[in-house]
Amino acid sequence: MKCQDLLKILNEYVDGDIDPAVCQELEKHLAGCNPCKVVIDNIRKTVSLYKNDQVYELPLDFKQRLHQALQDKWKKQGSPPSDKPEGQGS
Ligand SMILES: [Zn+2]
Repeated sequence: MKCQDLLKILNEYVDGDIDPAVCQELEKHLAGCNPCKVVIDNIRKTVSLYKNDQVYELPLDFKQRLHQALQDKWKKQGSPPSDKPEGQGS
């Protein structure tokens, strides 16, 4: 599983509607990917907070931080997953 895959299943994860096998993959990824681990930790906290009020939608701020964290990681790895090159205009 890659960070992108994790992003895709985040919603299911938050809904608690995730396949156990997928969940295992997710946990495995988290073991080796600190940014994603932080993200999930925050989701868990956020979800439990919101669940008390029966409302949980990922806050916009949270999504932004998620992207920031992942992009930082990808930059360090030197393999940006985006298919849209950002550095245009040389
Ligand atoms: Zn990751």
